[in-house]
Amino acid sequence: MQNLNKMTIRDLDVKGKHVLVRCDFNVPIVDGVITDDKRIVESLPTIKYLMEHGAKVILCSHLGRPNGEFNEKYSLKPIAKHLSSLLGLDVVMAEDVIGADAKAKSAALAEGDVMLLENVRFHKQEEKNDPEFSAELASLAEVYVNDAFGTAHRAHASTAGVASYLPSAVGFLIQKEIEIMGRALSDPKRPFVAILGGAKVSDKIGVINNLLLLADKILIGGAMAYTFLKATGYPIGISRVEDDKIEDAKAMMALAEEKGIEFLIPSDNVSGKEFKEDTETITKTSIPDEFMGLDIGPLTIERFSAAIEGAGTVLWNGPMGVFEWERFAVGTKAVADAIAKSGAISIIGGGDSAAAIEIYGYADKMTHISTGGGASLEFLEGLVLPGIAAIADKE
Ligand code: AMP
Repeated sequence: MQNLNKMTIRDLDVKGKHVLVRCDFNVPIVDGVITDDKRIVESLPTIKYLMEHGAKVILCSHLGRPNGEFNEKYSLKPIAKHLSSLLGLDVVMAEDVIGADAKAKSAALAEGDVMLLENVRFHKQEEKNDPEFSAELASLAEVYVNDAFGTAHRAHASTAGVASYLPSAVGFLIQKEIEIMGRALSDPKRPFVAILGGAKVSDKIGVINNLLLLADKILIGGAMAYTFLKATGYPIGISRVEDDKIEDAKAMMALAEEKGIEFLIPSDNVSGKEFKEDTETITKTSIPDEFMGLDIGPLTIERFSAAIEGAGTVLWNGPMGVFEWERFAVGTKAVADAIAKSGAISIIGGGDSAAAIEIYGYADKMTHISTGGGASLEFLEGLVLPGIAAIADKE
């Protein structure tokens, strides 16, 4: 596993220094209006800490996929405006990323000021982790802080490359992610129950294999469960399945058995005739030929809830069914209920499970809701995240 004992912003002397902070401001914007500002709000503790400690704060982020060229649609201007109201001060907006305007405005910053660069993906060198572009970005500041966990699995200039040129640290968001998820992987409170769901087994083979080294119980739901069920000979009708992953599924279940890890797959399902919200459904322990599994059934909910009860640590990534449709959200909601009631250290991977926890009102009952979908999966897989590896180790 990678060294997670990283320099944090508390370890740095930032007073009077320009501090370049990579944030994750990749928020949904419709007609210039931010429709969900969660990621911006989450970045505030790091920004406020730096302001209060006399830094000249220079923020940067990507937004959407502007394909390496300027595009007003992906401008960070609405974010500067929103940040200004959240912070109660005028956030200076640069017209460019490494151009004359960014340079002049950064030179004019006073201690406690905050400025925002334009979208780093307006330069194609960003995603190529181009050293010259990284050096130019670095030249705006004396210190670099990475607080964008959601892009920490990408080796881009603003997430990794720039750290080669400046003293560096992680911000509070990344610090929390690596402390809590790092502990779950190195020294979990037991029993350690991992729940995985969602669309595809292929996305999660790495995570399951890593969890087979660590967890006491592994629970599988969602569409990915049908590949495991098919591997056991269970009739799955026309459920979504990855036939080329059946051998992997068999190998994972065999390894779990060998290691004495409880590996739970659904024993009943709510199945529909069509992939439609108002389709005809049937709930039973096998799936008829012309039906597809769309949610876990009541017996499975009972088994999964019992497995979660009394857990020391629960890790959850991926819904148990097509939770976007209320009729097939029952299993996902039941798992969220069971986690909230368990009193366990609860870690929710980003993406759909994080959204489900919010929808069901359990966000404040969870120990940690990861801010990164892809990044948290790679982290849980035990992979080295370039955006974290690039930050200096604590001495
Ligand atoms: P992922 O992005 O891999 O976490 O997958 C999430 C998606 O899986 C959600 O959009 C769910 O609707 C979908 N999903 C979960 N269960 C099923 C199922 N039984 N059949 C089809 N799609 C499913």
